[in-house]
Amino acid sequence: MHDRLNLEQTDYQIPNTVSDLWLPNSKMWDENKIITLFGQQSMDALVQAPVIAGQGPDIICWKLTPNGLCSSKSAYNMLAKEEAASQPPPNTPLQVIQILRQVWKDKLIQPRVKTFAWRLLRLALGTGKRIHRIIQRIDEKCSRCGMVEDDNHLFFECSFARATWFGSVLGLRSDNLPSSTSGLHVQIGSLLQQGAPNMTAGIIFSIMWCLWKARNDHRFNNVHWTTSRLLFEATAIDNSFAAVMEEPLPIHDHENHGQRNNLSGMNLNAPVQIQEGPNIFCDASVCVQQSAAYNQTGVGIFILTTPSHSLCSGSFFSGRYTASNGATTSRGKRSTLGGETS
Ligand SMILES: [Zn+2]
Repeated sequence: MHDRLNLEQTDYQIPNTVSDLWLPNSKMWDENKIITLFGQQSMDALVQAPVIAGQGPDIICWKLTPNGLCSSKSAYNMLAKEEAASQPPPNTPLQVIQILRQVWKDKLIQPRVKTFAWRLLRLALGTGKRIHRIIQRIDEKCSRCGMVEDDNHLFFECSFARATWFGSVLGLRSDNLPSSTSGLHVQIGSLLQQGAPNMTAGIIFSIMWCLWKARNDHRFNNVHWTTSRLLFEATAIDNSFAAVMEEPLPIHDHENHGQRNNLSGMNLNAPVQIQEGPNIFCDASVCVQQSAAYNQTGVGIFILTTPSHSLCSGSFFSGRYTASNGATTSRGKRSTLGGETS
């Protein structure tokens, strides 16, 4: 209302409250006063507003919650609705939404891999090309081969990525995949639609996540991952969460006992299941603090003590490990413990 106030007039005092616009000792609008102060248009709008008959004191009331108290949740919902109404969401390809739904409901994929998949498919990964557009001094070229680093190059076209896919259990020729200039959903959708038993969203995104981590290590730390290290880690990531989430086997079932230590063999088809009793998992990529030397790595150990496999019943320890061959050696040692989690 304040922007309609007529400051030129001298007939009336500037009102402080709504009741200043009523006739004295009544709840009737003082039409002359309102028209003089705010104009006919405001008067027409005001007479539409119902006047409450009660005499109680004014209270501040938040209409979006049943109890009248403002909550951040209700405020967020209101703002989100306003935002959605004023700015329709960008036209996200249906295939992207379908893949994200599939990944999100897959209980065997780690949350951090899901988050990575979301960033990847919503074109939010900070590739060289994407960041260079915003910050010119950031090199847009791939640190391995010097080509422009976009999503497609990083994950499917770079020789390192091609060697990784070809060396994986998928045995994939990534240069044969259909390509797209607007994200990788076409390639990933094509892989998932093939329906091969080992072509799961879990292993595909685990490999892609490790390609991203290897890229960061190469670009920022000058550390070169081998494809075998990358595939070993991707397979462990994909298997480990499945191992924790699996239902326990009956105690008398010993037929699958040997498959417990099969992670290093990268046999994706082998069901990894947990026997009754305590289970110990170990991860050689835990970040405990800034490593002081190239041959030190963070090692985390996760112990489940009850057969329920509830993560609440677990204990987690972490520390730094120094090895002559760096992380690769400690990862090798890890395999003797049977896998990793986190
Ligand atoms: Zn490259």
